[in-house]
Amino acid sequence: MKKYRLLVTVIIAMGIILIGTSNPLTNFYKGTNLINKPINKKEDTNKQKEFLICIDPGHQERGDSKLEPVAPGSSSQKARVSSGATGVGTKKPEYVLNLEASTVLKHILKGKGYKVIMTRETNNVNISNSERALFANKEKADMVIRIHADSIDNSSKTGASILVPSKNSQYTSNIYENSNKCAESIKKNMEKSNININGIFERGDLTGFNWSNVPVVLVEMGFLSNYEEDRMMSSPDYQRKLMQSISDGVEEYFTNK
Ligand SMILES: [Zn+2]
Repeated sequence: MKKYRLLVTVIIAMGIILIGTSNPLTNFYKGTNLINKPINKKEDTNKQKEFLICIDPGHQERGDSKLEPVAPGSSSQKARVSSGATGVGTKKPEYVLNLEASTVLKHILKGKGYKVIMTRETNNVNISNSERALFANKEKADMVIRIHADSIDNSSKTGASILVPSKNSQYTSNIYENSNKCAESIKKNMEKSNININGIFERGDLTGFNWSNVPVVLVEMGFLSNYEEDRMMSSPDYQRKLMQSISDGVEEYFTNK
C-alpha cells in the first residue's frame, strides 16, 4: 500500500512537471504546423540545390573526323570529336577514364542535392563538341563541367589544369565571368586537397566553349603521358578525392553566387 502511494505521488509529480514545461500556445502552433515552417536560411540552401549541372565526359570510343565550325557562324573548322589520349602505363583510353571520373562526380553532386545531367553515359556514342554545348544550352544548365585528361610529348610534365572560355572572345565574353569564378573556386578546393595544379587557363580555340551560352569549366585531371599520374588517375581513391574537390568548388561557387 505504501509502495502504491509512492507510485501515485511520482505520477502526480511528473504530471505537474510536464504541465509546467509545456507552453500550450507552442503546442497549438506545433499542431497546426505553423511554426515548423523552414526559416529563410534553410529555404535559401534548398533553392541553391535547384541548380542544374551538366557534366561532359570528354571524347568517345570512336572519334569523328568530319568537320564542324569551331564557333557559331565561323568559317574555321575542327574535327567533330576525337577519341582522346591513352594512358602511357595503364593503356586506358582517355574517354574511358573521363567517364569513370565523371560518374563519380555525378554521384557526389547528386549526393549534395544538385540536379545533374550528362552529355553521355556510355562510350559508344557520337556527339560532337558543339552538340555537347548545344545540349547544355538547351537544358539551361547553370554550370557545365567538362572532364578530360592531358597528354603531352614530355613524360615528366604533371598536374591538373583548369580551362575556361576566353574573356575577350566575341563568342564567350558573356560567360567568362561566371566560368572563371567557378574555376577559381574549384582551384581553391583542389589546393585544399593537396592536388597538384598548374593553374587556370583561358582558351579561345575550343569548340565546346565557343558554342556554349552557359558557364563552363574544363578540368584536365592530370597527364596520361606521365606514368605516375596516369596510374594515380585510375585509382578509385584519387578519383574520389579529385571529384570531391571539384564538387566542393562547384558548391562554393553556387553558395557565393
Ligand atoms: Zn581530352
